[in-house]
Amino acid sequence: MSKTALVTGITGQDGAYLAQLLLGKGYKVYGGARRTSSLNTWRLAELGIEPEVELIDFELMETGNVLRVIERIRPDEVYNLAAQSFVQASFEYPIYTIETNTLGTVRILEAIRQVNPKIRFYQASTSEMYGQVQKTPQTERTPFYPRSPYGISKLHSHWLTVNYRESYGIAASSGILFNHESPLRGREFVTRKITSGLALIKRGRLDVLALGNLEAKRDWGFAGDYVEGMWLMAQAPVADDYVLATGETHSVRHFVEAAAPQLGFAIEWQGQGQDETGVDRKSGRTLVRINKEHFRPAEVSVLMGSPEKARQKLGWERRVTFNELVARMAEADERRVRDGGILL
Ligand code: NDP
Ligand code: GDP
Repeated sequence: MSKTALVTGITGQDGAYLAQLLLGKGYKVYGGARRTSSLNTWRLAELGIEPEVELIDFELMETGNVLRVIERIRPDEVYNLAAQSFVQASFEYPIYTIETNTLGTVRILEAIRQVNPKIRFYQASTSEMYGQVQKTPQTERTPFYPRSPYGISKLHSHWLTVNYRESYGIAASSGILFNHESPLRGREFVTRKITSGLALIKRGRLDVLALGNLEAKRDWGFAGDYVEGMWLMAQAPVADDYVLATGETHSVRHFVEAAAPQLGFAIEWQGQGQDETGVDRKSGRTLVRINKEHFRPAEVSVLMGSPEKARQKLGWERRVTFNELVARMAEADERRVRDGGILL
């Protein structure tokens, strides 16, 4: 008999890739989507799976709704991907971020506890919980030191996941995922901001790309690889916590340097500090400027994870390399801009 999964955050990047994976495995997929003025299913449409996912009204802030959804569909597995996921926004909306990310998670866990504690649960935890890193590379045992309301909200929900596992025997796993990107990444995140920005500049639809801290380093992988790890965690006989990462780290500056040639530019850096610019060597045109608005009140300078436990216990391996990831994102944005569509 086919399994049933509830994927919260279905309209987000990971929701789309995970739904695609689960459908491919024969699951019945319910996608939790909240009410907005216009339903934003473009990612599901891009993957060609929109008709196959059954959307269900799902709002993390609404206890009764969360309980009713789980009672009604009685899923075998719940993947909690819904969140206010943007670090920068969490400084502006700390309370909302905690309400959604932390209280939303405990609402789901409570519903599972009440409806059927045998429902398997996956929590979307994050490398932002390491924040000011205490050790490199970061593993499941590295102490946490979050640096944003987002990181704090996710650390709290991570421990709730661990606690519901230990208290009630719920098969609840927490995936500590390092940054993962794709052509479906939101445009506010730096990778997609860079690929879409350069594609727009190339077609004369944007003047200059404004960035913040070029020295920040992240362990960037491909989202499609990471959703496989989520599924593997939910299948493991014993629920546990796992890091998914590439084991490499690259700076924002390096990401720009790698993306530029994909879009026909060659970046040369000129000037220093806030006055630094990225100039196209061939045309002399300024492509990148620094804007202090994009700096964070507290920064996470460098992240690099070790996926060793996931490799050994789950057999998980990332496939897409950094350069392939950049190329895929640049290619997709170039195509979208060339076709004249609105960039989502
Ligand atoms: P996205 O921001 O692309 O998607 C977030 C999803 O959550 C969207 O579907 C959004 O709906 C939904 N959502 C937000 N608030 C609510 C709410 N109050 N009620 C119901 N749904 C809500 O994130 P990603 O797909 O990139 O990430 C998936 C999860 O993994 C997130 O929890 C994120 O924090 C976490 N994570 C992501 C990493 C990454 O690098 N991508 C790294 C580590 C963890 P809407 O479309 O309506 O806004
Ligand atoms: P995060 O790791 O979840 O915060 O993912 P982001 O893609 O938002 O940011 C990654 C890093 O890029 C952070 O250290 C940011 O400070 C840095 N960064 C530099 N410029 C920008 C920018 O213009 N936008 C974003 N989002 N991040 C930027």
